[in-house]
Amino acid sequence: MGPARAEALAGAGLRTVRDLILHLPFRYEDRRGTRPVAEAAAGTSQTFRGRLVGLRRIRTRRRGFSLVRGFVEDGSGRLPVVWFNRPYLAHQTATDEVEYLLHGPVKAAADGLELVNPSCEPAAQAVHGDRIAPIYPAAGKVGPAALRRMLEGVLREIDLPAQVAETVPEELLERYGLPPLGEALQALHHPGADADVEALSQRRSPAHLRLIYGELLELQVALALVRRREEAVRRARRYQSGARLRRTLAEIPPFPLTGAQERAMGEILADLGGPHPMLRLLQGDVGSGKTIVAALALAAALESGYQGAFMAPTELLAEQHYASLSRLLGDRYKIVLVTASSGGSAGEAGRLRAELASGEARLAVGTHALFQESVEFQELGLAVIDEQHRFGVAQRDLLRRKGDRPDLLVMTATPIPRSLALTAYGDLAVSTLDELPPGRSAVRTELAPARQSREVYRRLRKAMEAGERAYVVAPFIEESLLDAVSLSEVEARVREILAGFPVATVHGRMPAAERERALRAFAAGEVRALVATTVIEVGLDVPAATWMVIESSERFGLAQLHQLRGRVGRGTGLATCVAIHGRLSEAARQRLEIFAATTDGFEIAERDLLLRGPGDLLGTRQAGLPSLAVARLPEDWDWLVRARDDARELLGRLRGPALKALEEKVAACASS
Ligand code: ADP
Ligand code: MG
Repeated sequence: MGPARAEALAGAGLRTVRDLILHLPFRYEDRRGTRPVAEAAAGTSQTFRGRLVGLRRIRTRRRGFSLVRGFVEDGSGRLPVVWFNRPYLAHQTATDEVEYLLHGPVKAAADGLELVNPSCEPAAQAVHGDRIAPIYPAAGKVGPAALRRMLEGVLREIDLPAQVAETVPEELLERYGLPPLGEALQALHHPGADADVEALSQRRSPAHLRLIYGELLELQVALALVRRREEAVRRARRYQSGARLRRTLAEIPPFPLTGAQERAMGEILADLGGPHPMLRLLQGDVGSGKTIVAALALAAALESGYQGAFMAPTELLAEQHYASLSRLLGDRYKIVLVTASSGGSAGEAGRLRAELASGEARLAVGTHALFQESVEFQELGLAVIDEQHRFGVAQRDLLRRKGDRPDLLVMTATPIPRSLALTAYGDLAVSTLDELPPGRSAVRTELAPARQSREVYRRLRKAMEAGERAYVVAPFIEESLLDAVSLSEVEARVREILAGFPVATVHGRMPAAERERALRAFAAGEVRALVATTVIEVGLDVPAATWMVIESSERFGLAQLHQLRGRVGRGTGLATCVAIHGRLSEAARQRLEIFAATTDGFEIAERDLLLRGPGDLLGTRQAGLPSLAVARLPEDWDWLVRARDDARELLGRLRGPALKALEEKVAACASS
């Protein structure tokens, strides 16, 4: 190919023949069989075989727009053909006596039928027509037809079944009746004349299944190796476990634990008593009470003579947790707050660090600042990371550097569906809080089209007059873009409607100190309505806030809406959440309906996964989750489970140099 095309492909990430071979069709069209020109019928795409006659280029008044007209003729008759913007066709084919294959839509024109913009190729080397045609996703500016031509060229040069190395052991291919990789690729790019088009289009052909399984197997082998490496690490620390510890822990919570909290505690204590460092995910919906579980786990570490660390994503949340952990544990242990601005002066910050290094301070609560090089612990036992829905390999490594491989408890309010947890983390231990503490108020969720917003705000004002506190959430948009409402518009409206009530605004682009000041004022009740972007999404705990209006709610993802709503309903009264929306796409309508129908975070996570796909949900890159090219979750769950079991079996048999080679390969991939 020429340099321009090569560059266009490279721009879309296709640089080598291998890249091209792995650029797979996303659907197939059955273009088998041609029909006589005389039988052309308006309305569908059809394939004809014949000579091209009477081709002429037609000039039009529109600049940069040209037409070529002519006829396709076979024994049965002739049919007018028109092409847009392909002037070269007039020269290329005008004098040819060869037969062409044309495929395209037949439309009714002023004076009869017309074949519009068909693909056109010598019938002897047909690529597009009279076959099951693969339809490729465009690669940048290179369209499906060009890609089809290129791949046909590749297949002529390369014998895929003979030349592509197999990656899956033969015995496993036999177990599931799957074709070898080379054959599978060949079949995907050039399905045989008798292939099952339906199965191909549904990603269910044997060729697809080979790729799905292979991809998941590679991933599971890598995960199993990582896990083995983790399990080879033994912990030098000994945690207490006996009756004395249990008595101490029982004194800490100011309320009886829920069954789910008890269960999670049991799982955590078992980990801490075990021989390997803990790596456990604690997931529970907003308000399910993860903090007390973390506090008790930390108490177990502190009681055993080790230090603890608790990391939150923002300064405000760190302060909030510092306050609640101080209430729970402050009588027993010295707790310090470590954030970028904590200590204020350099001297104060130095004192904090010295206290942690000497072991005088037992528990550090803070932000990322906790894991800076300069912060040293005397002997860190357990680290808790809060509100981390995107916990990846990078974060684990950061922590690993703090002392002797601390035990790790990661908490998230964005539940990870089972299928996804298995892909991302292999068999990462998971504890789930699937029960809310008693007496939690319900949140009533309503949807309202934008034209009803006046009525919504009237009700909001009533609630404010009755002493309630409210969030008004809007997407952050520079100027009023399209039909979404911008933050500044919303702010103006809220200030007008709520005249007389103190209102503040927060968004991600204002100075952090100013933002924190506004949030604090809202928590204290000095500000009664908070106009905000999604910066309030995570963790903020203001039980007195009972109203939420979400503007342009169609712009938010389902998980995000759920997180936002989690800011209200944290007290005892009934809370209200109204999602105002503009015109809805089908997908947006589905999201909002699910949102209004359930407050169950797990159900929302599963539905979200189905609507959006896993890459989006976890933030593929951040989570260190390899992106899957062919496999999809949760649809391919069965293959995922097979791959996991087979990966274990394979590794169980590998010994010596073969195992070592594989481990090195995986380590190289992981570090890149
Ligand atoms: P999240 O899981 O969202 O982090 P929190 O730990 O902030 O939830 O808990 C939410 C609220 O529920 C807190 O005010 C907490 O004190 C309260 N809470 C937690 N567990 C219980 C319980 N077992 N009984 C009563 N209240 C509880
Ligand atoms: Mg929390």
